[in-house]
Amino acid sequence: MQPTSLAFQAKATGALADANLQKALGGIKTGWQRGRILAAERLPEFEQLRDQARDIKNHALEHLDFYLEAFEARVLDAGGHVHWARDAAEARAIIQGICQDVNARTVTKSKSMIAEEIGLNDHLEAAGITPVETDLGEYIIQLRKEPPSHLVGPAVHLTKDQVADLFAETHHLPRTDDPAELVGQARTVLRQKYLAADVGITGANFLIAETGSAITVTNEGNAELTQGLPRVHVVIASLEKVIPSMEDAFTLLRVLARSATGQEFSTYTTVMTGPKRPDDHDGPEQFHVVLLDNGRTRMIGSKFQDMLRCIRCGACMNNCPVYLAAGGHAYGWVYVGPMGSVLTPQFVGIDQAHTLPNASTFCGRCEEVCPVRIPLPNLMRHWRDEQFKRQLVPATYRYGLNVWGFVAKRPALYRMATRIAMGLLGAVGKKRGKFASLPLAKGWTASRDLPAPQGGTFMQQWKQRQGTRH
Ligand code: SF4
Repeated sequence: MQPTSLAFQAKATGALADANLQKALGGIKTGWQRGRILAAERLPEFEQLRDQARDIKNHALEHLDFYLEAFEARVLDAGGHVHWARDAAEARAIIQGICQDVNARTVTKSKSMIAEEIGLNDHLEAAGITPVETDLGEYIIQLRKEPPSHLVGPAVHLTKDQVADLFAETHHLPRTDDPAELVGQARTVLRQKYLAADVGITGANFLIAETGSAITVTNEGNAELTQGLPRVHVVIASLEKVIPSMEDAFTLLRVLARSATGQEFSTYTTVMTGPKRPDDHDGPEQFHVVLLDNGRTRMIGSKFQDMLRCIRCGACMNNCPVYLAAGGHAYGWVYVGPMGSVLTPQFVGIDQAHTLPNASTFCGRCEEVCPVRIPLPNLMRHWRDEQFKRQLVPATYRYGLNVWGFVAKRPALYRMATRIAMGLLGAVGKKRGKFASLPLAKGWTASRDLPAPQGGTFMQQWKQRQGTRH
């Protein structure tokens, strides 16, 4: 997927005027956002679990080489194969090779952000192999030829009516907006695809070093049918998904579902270890794990290492005022919301994504809700520094920031400057009580008036108020 993150501002402006999108995004607040709050309230040890989750991921990252080698050894013991991919091109070639070795024509896929990251579907199609997305949201966006707009709900940007229109057109059935019927239609189509598929490709939420297992969580059971029915199962996962033990996985799973959707646990949690054994009733004949680096080892030991703790729950975007207004597609690449604003510059280069670390109010809500306590605002701040150093923003903006920095570091000068500015603005705007437009504040006044300040600066008013209280 070619990044279009530099167009964030234009896309966000378009998103604000899109009534369907705004309606769809509104559901996140009452759904997942509220669900997380209630789930956290129901679990007294939730905060403690978050600390444990952070520590497990930190420990795994500090000993990543050890746990990856242990994982590989266990996969081989179980009769599986491990493939190491340095970058997206290598990962695509490996998966294409596995598919071609069994003359695959159709592959089923369950939701995988790593498959999105490496552009797997387009590559397979170009090689004459048809990929079929089996997660309902992914199925919908595959029909619309769109990228996902959310980690957990790839089609969260769509309303039920839009899906009803799409299904009527695609399935050639009378239009219905009944959710159960819509799901039933998708199920009927996908059941045939599961049976026809030669290869099933899944992602992995966690890779377990002690057993060589991959774990997936879904609410639809599609990962289970994807991995269990075809002859060959391919897991595609990035290196940082490895954790030491099954016990650690269950600690992480306890915070994952609660943070993502407010569920105590996802409906299906599946542990996959090696291919089918002689006494198994079903399962794949081949089990492959493709381990993708794609720049992650560069993050180890860097100021962005904390980002590798991410367990892709989506809570940061569910609580981000910018994401909730602009939607995921405005971010212009695979990863969206606050976590995307940190990861995208890392993967596509800051010169291609320097708009994203600025797509934040720095309210800190993303860090507050992150189950593995990733300091997202701080990481975005590192990218802003980088952007400033590389002169990726217009000269006027940089000079403006320099002047601001100079004044803000000198409290006496700052107070004098704000007193003068407030006095001037108060005097000029006194008559009308507001400004409909103002130089240097056009972004603000484009959609609302700026009230003319009355009663001095914030510091003066604060002092006054303290005085009247005593
Ligand atoms: S950064 Fe944190 S909150 Fe956001 S998706 Fe990752 S784990 Fe979840």
